[in-house]
Amino acid sequence: MAKRDYYEVLGVRRSATEDEIKKAYRSLARKCHPDQNPGDAGAEERFKELNEAYEVLRDPQKRAMYDRFGHGAAGRPGGPGGPGAGDFASWFGDLGGFSGFDDIFSMFFEGMRGGRARRAGPTRGGDLRYDLEITLEEAAAGLEREMDVPRIVDCPICDGTGARPGTRPERCPECRGTGQTRRVQRTPLGQMVTMGPCARCEGRGEIITDPCPDCNGVGKVRRNHRIVLEVPPGVDTGTRLRIAGAGQPGLMGGPPGDLFVYIYVKPHRVFQREGSDLHLDRRIGIAQAALGAELTVPTLGGEAILKVPPGTQPGQRLRLKGKGMPHLRRSGSGDLIVRVTVEVPSRLSAREKELLAAFAAERGESVSLGEGFLKKVRDALSGGG
Ligand SMILES: [Zn+2]
Ligand SMILES: [Zn+2]
Repeated sequence: MAKRDYYEVLGVRRSATEDEIKKAYRSLARKCHPDQNPGDAGAEERFKELNEAYEVLRDPQKRAMYDRFGHGAAGRPGGPGGPGAGDFASWFGDLGGFSGFDDIFSMFFEGMRGGRARRAGPTRGGDLRYDLEITLEEAAAGLEREMDVPRIVDCPICDGTGARPGTRPERCPECRGTGQTRRVQRTPLGQMVTMGPCARCEGRGEIITDPCPDCNGVGKVRRNHRIVLEVPPGVDTGTRLRIAGAGQPGLMGGPPGDLFVYIYVKPHRVFQREGSDLHLDRRIGIAQAALGAELTVPTLGGEAILKVPPGTQPGQRLRLKGKGMPHLRRSGSGDLIVRVTVEVPSRLSAREKELLAAFAAERGESVSLGEGFLKKVRDALSGGG
């Protein structure tokens, strides 16, 4: 089946703001939730489709990719060009690949602007961004994950020079090794001389005539660096974890950059999260609402008993203290808030009808039942029959 357009799924314009997308998602999620549509096999699929669309459109970077490449973005092959073409960032981007929205990991590299190493002083390494998608259960418990962080390091074959071993980069003839060229422009105010990076050598002052076959003359290669990422309990979508020093190595003895992990918690089938509180909808019968009851409700840590007090009203919220999400980096937890829907039975057996009619008669409420039926009930109540 053809995949539906994400904007269509959410029913918003392509120019919709983040807020409009969020609103559309919330109202549709309420409608399509499988619990709201028992017995409808398609509901689950629609709910999944909705969440998938929202996961992409809520994230400006993923949305931009989707706008450019559509659903094909997930399978986009490595870009054209390859090493040596374009600037450093796009070279790396091609190697790193965009692994698709469905992957747990998608990695975006930041801080690579500025391109290749200038012959300036020590430079701090670039920061890395890592988008980590986790479940609500994982967010509650915290998790440890080993991950390979790709880093750009000096090519070991050419020692980072980019020149084939045994050869050396040559001084750029255009700028005579300075990396800067003068440009003279004629303007209405007279001649203007500006200095800018040399176009021939891209400001490096050297050119490589015989490139290293391993790195294609870039002087850098990608190496994985394994780290253990610790995600503390209580993280939420938008939580950013900083792992100092786990980014790109510095240049010329500069310090390494940092790794930033952005958390995205997937929507849960049963619970809706609001900060540290979890919300749950639960249906109860009219007798349970009137008389009170003890119900078993799911929590993240297994089942719990919820006391429904007598006289509970439709829409009332009942709170299970401490059964929500743990607070991030402090003790304690939020609450589980159960919103009670009172279900009025729509199909009644003859016996149930009798009992309800008797109940109505007791309270002096008029009800719509045939005269014959009512008479029977009245007779039964008065002890006749
Ligand atoms: Zn090399
Ligand atoms: Zn030059």
